[in-house]
Amino acid sequence: MTPLYQNQTLKIYNSLSGEKEIFTPLHQGNVGMYVCGPTVYSNVHLGNVRTFMSFDVVFRYFSHLGYKVRYVRNITDAGHLENDADEGEDRIAKKARLEQVEPMEIVQRYTVDFHSILNDFNFLPPSIEPTATGHIIEQIEIIKKIIDNGLAYEANGSVYFDVKKYNETNHYGILSGRNIEDMLANTRELAGQSEKKNPQDFALWKRAEPQHIMRWPSPWSDGFPGWHLECTAMSTKYLGEQFDIHGGGMDLKFPHHECEIAQNQACTGNAPVNYWMHANMLTLNGKKMAKSTGNNILPREIISGNNDILSKAFSPSVTRFFMLQAHYRSILDFSNDAILAAEKGYNRLMEAFNSLSEIEVSENSSVDINTWKQRCYDAMNDDFNTPILIAELFEGVRFINLLKEKTESISAEDLKTFSNAMSGFIFDILGLKDEKTSGAGNDKLENVVNMLIGMRNEARANKDFALSDNIRNQLTSLGIHLKDGKDGTTFTIN
Ligand code: AMP
Ligand code: ZN
Repeated sequence: MTPLYQNQTLKIYNSLSGEKEIFTPLHQGNVGMYVCGPTVYSNVHLGNVRTFMSFDVVFRYFSHLGYKVRYVRNITDAGHLENDADEGEDRIAKKARLEQVEPMEIVQRYTVDFHSILNDFNFLPPSIEPTATGHIIEQIEIIKKIIDNGLAYEANGSVYFDVKKYNETNHYGILSGRNIEDMLANTRELAGQSEKKNPQDFALWKRAEPQHIMRWPSPWSDGFPGWHLECTAMSTKYLGEQFDIHGGGMDLKFPHHECEIAQNQACTGNAPVNYWMHANMLTLNGKKMAKSTGNNILPREIISGNNDILSKAFSPSVTRFFMLQAHYRSILDFSNDAILAAEKGYNRLMEAFNSLSEIEVSENSSVDINTWKQRCYDAMNDDFNTPILIAELFEGVRFINLLKEKTESISAEDLKTFSNAMSGFIFDILGLKDEKTSGAGNDKLENVVNMLIGMRNEARANKDFALSDNIRNQLTSLGIHLKDGKDGTTFTIN
């Protein structure tokens, strides 16, 4: 069977060129994609989930088109310092110090949390999920090559990338558009205060201070690798010195991805990535969701509704639908009203999809299903435009209603095409689930939960709070979350 990708022309916005480009893989039929994973020192927030979701959909679409995809998403479990540059404590080591546990206990706790969140939100696992600490040897080997090529230097047991020297024959700033000459001219080095030749130089290896517990032996010192280096080591190891796609959040473009390009170029002489993709931020009250500022919502708070911003609980698929209604390169602001509206849309789409079985077929079709189906592909082919795809799916909903009321007609064959396409786009590509029919969310269960909510209300009215809390807690342990709102109690199941 001819793979679908042979009949579709996919265009990707390449952050490197600033243009949408036709996607041509390095190896026909194969896609290699690397996405920067989380630094596992705290719970992921909804903003992180959005970025990973953008690439989950990219992964799903490539797979749907019939490509063999190797999707590598790492876990950062060492080397990411507090200020994203070369100063401050390692984020994981700091958390371990504060809690008086092993750094690897922190890593384990938040890696497990990350996986369970992504599972709740119906993410597909990547093909390989390597860790920074599992690739120290590879990182040391890259540093040796960069030193041999004259583009890194040692200072007091640390090794720094020589940005100024690199820029004599390469272009530091090629991705972010930053002008290194300006950067060099505008920074005055305070003599003796830094071991770097220039402030723009970044660490490939840092000598560990005596109190730094995450340390490994190297030719230069007992220390730890720089944050940018791990992604170069792991992408090269699993995808090769050159590969198709590298993704991450917009905030990683500089310095992280700029430094990755420089490291690869300095090591192999090649630009590592053909298509750079950057996902835009999820904001709350107009400001970027971030761990450090506390301006964020946790994914589980959405599912439980336990956050003052929320009037009720929202299911994982509604959350997915909310996020995918925006294009991945647009900023998306989270608000209760916006997700309430998304819930209405999601319910309408699911109801319509479930009523496909009520449609009666005719000899001939008056609706043009194939043209509509191609428009759905066109939306995804246009840089993964999920909001346009969703608009086309609502065009499908309109067809369904016209067919049900017999204003339009459809042949048996077209109905099959139509229903397969709806299901492929909704479930396989957007990764939504029908929460009413899948999982436990069927009518009987809904009635039972509503009965328990009634009993809990009665217990509360009788001031029997032990019983009412007991009902709530037992439901929570079964994955059924109650949320009390002004219009009564609602629930979600995950
Ligand atoms: P971190 O664990 O901080 O390295 O972040 C993991 C991923 O989430 C990175 O790709 C970040 O760019 C991304 N990210 C962080 N904050 C947000 C946000 N508010 N909206 C979308 N993506 C984000
Ligand atoms: Zn990275």
